[in-house]
Amino acid sequence: MNKNNFTLRVIDCPLCGSSRFTAMLRGMKFDFKNNCWAVHETIQVGVCDHCGLVYENPQVVLEENALYTDQHCYTPKADLISHDKHQQRMNHMLWGLLEQRLNWKGFNRALDIGASGAWSDFILQKHPHIEQVVLEPSWDAVQHGRKCYPKVDIRHGIFETFEDSPGSYGLISLFNAIYVLAKPRKALANIHQLLTDDGRLIINVTNQHLHVEAWLYGRPYLNLAQLMRTIMLVYYSRKTLKIMLKISGFEIIEDFTAEQPEDPLVIYMRRNQWYFVIARKSAHGIPKMDFEDLKDETERLEAENFFKRYCEMISDISIQALFDRHLANHIHLFIPDNPHYIEWLLPRLKAHCPNVIVYSKPLDHTELELADEPGTILLNGFEADVDIETLHRRFDHIKAFNCRIPPETPSNDPFNLCIHNENGEMIITHSFCPIQDIRLFPFPAQELVRG
Ligand SMILES: [Zn+2]
Repeated sequence: MNKNNFTLRVIDCPLCGSSRFTAMLRGMKFDFKNNCWAVHETIQVGVCDHCGLVYENPQVVLEENALYTDQHCYTPKADLISHDKHQQRMNHMLWGLLEQRLNWKGFNRALDIGASGAWSDFILQKHPHIEQVVLEPSWDAVQHGRKCYPKVDIRHGIFETFEDSPGSYGLISLFNAIYVLAKPRKALANIHQLLTDDGRLIINVTNQHLHVEAWLYGRPYLNLAQLMRTIMLVYYSRKTLKIMLKISGFEIIEDFTAEQPEDPLVIYMRRNQWYFVIARKSAHGIPKMDFEDLKDETERLEAENFFKRYCEMISDISIQALFDRHLANHIHLFIPDNPHYIEWLLPRLKAHCPNVIVYSKPLDHTELELADEPGTILLNGFEADVDIETLHRRFDHIKAFNCRIPPETPSNDPFNLCIHNENGEMIITHSFCPIQDIRLFPFPAQELVRG
């Protein structure tokens, strides 16, 4: 079987059940043949017209695609050994956040869904009385975990088909896992059944639609490929995640945003933020929710705006910051020859400075014959950064700015500067950020958790 071919099924909204879905963008999946992320031919990321949930449709049928569930999370680009090492490093942060928030002595048994076993083993050392079970879809990860963490009961499978005794777990955790559950309502009903009456469910997620900032190696996730990711099936907002929990019979005890603390071992995650929810079974049981109760036009509009205009919103913040800080009389814009992108960008620059000269070649300051006057601004719109410091040493007045945020590796970003979706709408896929001062956070929805 070709690893790139999955059985796909058109699905109803995983939250409200509506079949009315508006496609926004084509989804991305890992291309095993070419060893890179690729835009999928059929899968769309879109929004439910009724409740505003963002999800992939058609969706990979997990039960019929062992190869997908087995191999899509750990790819040659994110291998399981480094993933496990990452989980080990994350343990300290998680423990710092959860130690005081949970009654560990009261738990008898814990289930961690979609994990290497590193966290369960860590907890076992702190609280040996808690029996630790892990459920993991990747067989390679299961074998690796069983070897490294022999005291943890690591089981192979997907949660959609997981069975165990009702009321037998005091703690169930979904760390960066809820978005890969194809049938979240069924999964949460299962969690509801597996939890003890005073048990706790912990969820953490990092995704920009939850209004958290994603960073890797000091680079913020400001391009569309980084918003889309490849393994997510559902893109929750805080609101849709809370409603999903509520209609599944949970009440939220606490939700909070945490930022990766300064830690030399996790330097690659510096500034990254996670959204956490701690929930328990509602005393009122599973509520009867009417289909009409789930209608949310505001959520739908916000979701559509967020995904389609992600890079535009970021660019607008950054361009505004440029002109707030620097006088502009003449702009020299160096940009790949992409007429749609240039047509989108030019009015944004000209609104602040009408004199814009466009060059469709990379900025090479040694070839430049420019008058060194105040208000002369050079904008490098090519992906390769220009050595700004050397350039500034050469001129007294000219200011230059690199405006692109390169992906961590080029093969992780299959998009050009912009695309047209199925409805013919143009979507900007690479943000234009002349100001990349990390003290300014050009995320479209900012949750400032740092002091
Ligand atoms: Zn819906």
